[in-house]
Amino acid sequence: MEVPPESDPHGFKRRGVLFVLSSPSGAGKSTIARKLLADEPGLSMSVSATTRAPRPGEVEGKDYHFVDLEEFRRMATEHEFLEWAHVFGQRYGTPRAPVEAMLAAGKDVLFDIDWQGAQQLFQIAGGDVVRVFILPPSMAELRQRLLNRNTDAIEIIDARMARAAAEVSHWDGYDYVLVNDDVEGCFRKVQTILAAERLKRSRQTGVIGFIRKLMA
Ligand code: 5GP
Repeated sequence: MEVPPESDPHGFKRRGVLFVLSSPSGAGKSTIARKLLADEPGLSMSVSATTRAPRPGEVEGKDYHFVDLEEFRRMATEHEFLEWAHVFGQRYGTPRAPVEAMLAAGKDVLFDIDWQGAQQLFQIAGGDVVRVFILPPSMAELRQRLLNRNTDAIEIIDARMARAAAEVSHWDGYDYVLVNDDVEGCFRKVQTILAAERLKRSRQTGVIGFIRKLMA
């Protein structure tokens, strides 16, 4: 994938970061994603398409693009997704065009996708992808958070708990693994990871020009 550079005052250019946040639902990922977007103007959110029904309060185009199965299938057939996967019996996919547009505009892109999406994205964009996995402090705490959210029926919560255990088993497919026992602390760690990844030499493409000037 073509990832055009973004410039800085010293002529450093760098490739955009595809920043993936995954976690079992209820582990606090959405809160951290929201805080990150509010604090980081250079970061834009990839809005996924899904066949699942909107939850109360969810907004079309902001939380998801809610589409029916027929439209989802059309998008998949016409290669409109960077990746897509079955999750909880529904389909979720990352629309390709907005991600390419954000990278072209010099933005880093935040993805709230599962381990299957993280894996597929890594296959496409390799070293441009940074994968962060957020764990709940305990399974009991996770269940309580899902219950407190009060948006899903009990059978859905049970299904999500079963799924959470399966998701946690994919922890080793990530570059960073964090425990969210304190949202503020976890958020600061995620922000630090993003800052460090942005500075990685392998992402910088314009350093040599600066070094030449420095040494001249
Ligand atoms: P929820 O239904 O709770 O919003 O999301 C369920 C799961 O689907 C979450 O783990 C979320 O990260 C994942 N997900 C959301 N969008 C995508 C996507 O575009 N691709 C993939 N692979 N997973 C997604």
